[in-house]
Amino acid sequence: MRLYSTNLKAEEVSFETALITGLAPDKGLYMPRQLPLFSKEELMSLKDETYPEIAFRLLGRILEGEIDEASLRAIVYDAYNYDVPLEKVDETTYIMRLDRGPTSSFKDFAARMMARLMQYYLKKENRKLTILTATSGDTGSAVAHAFYGLDNIDVIVLFPRTEVSDRQRKQMTTLGRNITALSVEGKFDDCQAMVKQAFADDELKHMNLSSANSINIGRLIPQSIYYFYSYLKLRDYPEKIVFSIPSGNFGNMMGCVLAKTMGLPVQKIVAAVNENDEVPCFLDTGRYGKIEPSRNCLSNAMNVGHPSNLARLITIYGGEMDEKGNVHSMPDMEKLKQDIYSIPITDEDTKATMREFYERHNILIEPHGAVGIKGLTEYRKATKDQTLAVTLETADPAKFPAEVKAVIGIEPEPPQHLREIESRTEHMEHLTTGYEQFKGYLKRKRG
Ligand SMILES: *Cc1c(COP(=O)(O)O)cnc(C)c1O
Repeated sequence: MRLYSTNLKAEEVSFETALITGLAPDKGLYMPRQLPLFSKEELMSLKDETYPEIAFRLLGRILEGEIDEASLRAIVYDAYNYDVPLEKVDETTYIMRLDRGPTSSFKDFAARMMARLMQYYLKKENRKLTILTATSGDTGSAVAHAFYGLDNIDVIVLFPRTEVSDRQRKQMTTLGRNITALSVEGKFDDCQAMVKQAFADDELKHMNLSSANSINIGRLIPQSIYYFYSYLKLRDYPEKIVFSIPSGNFGNMMGCVLAKTMGLPVQKIVAAVNENDEVPCFLDTGRYGKIEPSRNCLSNAMNVGHPSNLARLITIYGGEMDEKGNVHSMPDMEKLKQDIYSIPITDEDTKATMREFYERHNILIEPHGAVGIKGLTEYRKATKDQTLAVTLETADPAKFPAEVKAVIGIEPEPPQHLREIESRTEHMEHLTTGYEQFKGYLKRKRG
């Protein structure tokens, strides 16, 4: 597999290089030059297999030549040791729950594969890596859990002391081993700035610092698999399928675009966003403008005013967008709109959907999943398309107990692993926002 940068100024690299470096030297995002095309027969031959087996067989083709079969099998079975339920809502609608991983968020699908693939290459070359990651809550816990207990990789996660919930903090501070949590007296942006400065600091070059953020291609590719999985598990294999995806940085949606590129018969991708509506506006008007600062909405993991994965979407449709959001050449807008329907959902509608869904179907959903459901409803209203649809629930309602309680009046029951951490001992170090203090800490710790 060769990968090019969306900014088109960097050289093509191998999968391993793209995975370990994350961002291309020209600040673009890596994209595979070619992907396999799966025939319907090939896909159908997998319909009775489990999630990890389907992931192993499809990823085996996608990453052919990049990793040996036995290692890939072990990695996939280790990463995907949890359920992927498909809940029937009505004759034409299913919910796919991507919230059964160790941090109860769909981010586990991507982070766990990326971590294990990184470990595979590092071990082979006897190299070590330190991952620095700044988080406003969810990404940090998914990354920390994904790397927990792996060899050759240490993780240092910086979080704003007063901006994460107790439950989010405990998911990062109760792990220990190769995971270090740093509580910063500041905001998320301060954490982010310290991490960026460390990456740019020549005196720290010898430490092999790396990031594990959402732009890594090693996270994107595994996110194409659950779209295939849901298609294979539906009864009466539909000719076509619609997916509704609650979107923020558009990584999840890009997974679906990749699946479609690889032969999944997708009728339409509904990219539902909250009040950060820069993408639906772009599709409507052909003009792109970031939203700065991003708007604070109930579905807070989707408060993104400029989704970095947009550059990837645009490159697939023949255009070019740089990391700042400038469009250098337009994509094929007709084709883009034919494949993707994007719609903003207000907080009011999000809450109303959570309530209605519980009353009508007795199914508890959280704000992100509700955006996806409402997006599908609006799409159907606008187009009269009644194709079988799968809408994604991206987090366990118990991750948002206050929000769910305020809207529906019920406190969602936390899953076992979230309950267990309540009583575990927390370990963390405290930092102010001064970079020198952070650097001193890194030097003491890593030499
Ligand atoms: C990150 C996240 C999203 C948005 O996913 P993107 O890939 O950034 O579009 C949606 N829901 C939840 C719960 C998330 O954590």
